[in-house]
Amino acid sequence: MPQDTPGIHHVTAIASDPGRNYAFYTGTLGLRLVKRSVNQDDVSVYHLFYADHEGTPGTSMTVFPYPDAQPGQIGTGQVSTVSFLVPEGSIDYWYDRLEDAGADPDEPRDRFGDTVVPFVDPDGLSLELVGRSNVPPANLPDAPVPDAHAIRGFFGVELSLTSADPTGNLLRTMGYRETDREGTRRRYVADGELGYVVDICEDPQAPRGRPGAGTVHHVAFRVHEYEQSEWRDVLIEAGLRPTEIIDRKWFESVYVREHGTVLFEFATESPGYTVDEALAELGERLVVPEWLEDRREEIEANLPALSP
Ligand code: ZN
Repeated sequence: MPQDTPGIHHVTAIASDPGRNYAFYTGTLGLRLVKRSVNQDDVSVYHLFYADHEGTPGTSMTVFPYPDAQPGQIGTGQVSTVSFLVPEGSIDYWYDRLEDAGADPDEPRDRFGDTVVPFVDPDGLSLELVGRSNVPPANLPDAPVPDAHAIRGFFGVELSLTSADPTGNLLRTMGYRETDREGTRRRYVADGELGYVVDICEDPQAPRGRPGAGTVHHVAFRVHEYEQSEWRDVLIEAGLRPTEIIDRKWFESVYVREHGTVLFEFATESPGYTVDEALAELGERLVVPEWLEDRREEIEANLPALSP
């Protein structure tokens, strides 16, 4: 068996306006743009990676902002909410900051003993801040948010499913333990410092999710690089059909649609976002795969500026 996953590696979402998206994730949430790339299937569309200063696995929200994207529908078969971890004492600061930014925060609420503030990104993606007393140190030195309040990385994701058991069993195989249950929500926790929570919300009657702006495309979990083929075997054993191992330059990936049809990725923690850019310069320059290098000028000319 491969080693248990410590939690989420990254989450990838679909957005519309790239400038608005960039302003929100860097300006309002205070994350760093650590990689500025393009969608390899449509080079007129950015692939933006927001994370902590170093792009630590467990902190990175990646976005495909299609300027003309239609809104999607959040529903079953999807990651329905993405949660970020902040210090417990920062909830009031964030509530005011999100309200000022028009991010429509709900009143803070309690969930399994944590204070939670739900809000939305400019495309309506469902996000949350979760306050905990025990958080890793801040790692966003140049951000507009003070260290005391900075987002530490992911807390977790919520999956909306018509049936919880098959996906819950897969999470157990991946090393998650079920720790809480309340109403239709079940909590699974991994043994990591970031992105260690998966909540399953089961509703057999809920409408099915539809991809589009404001929805999550997939969630990736951290795995050790020499264990990728073992993970493939585990997934096949679970009756699933994983892809081959795909080289994404910053990590290697295996993708699989799990039993509830949510797209899971198993991504290696190395080599990471500094493999092709110096730490101080992450995200400043457009990074394209080698096979697109000779089209760089044309690609750059067709991309919108990242200003709102
Ligand atoms: Zn991914």
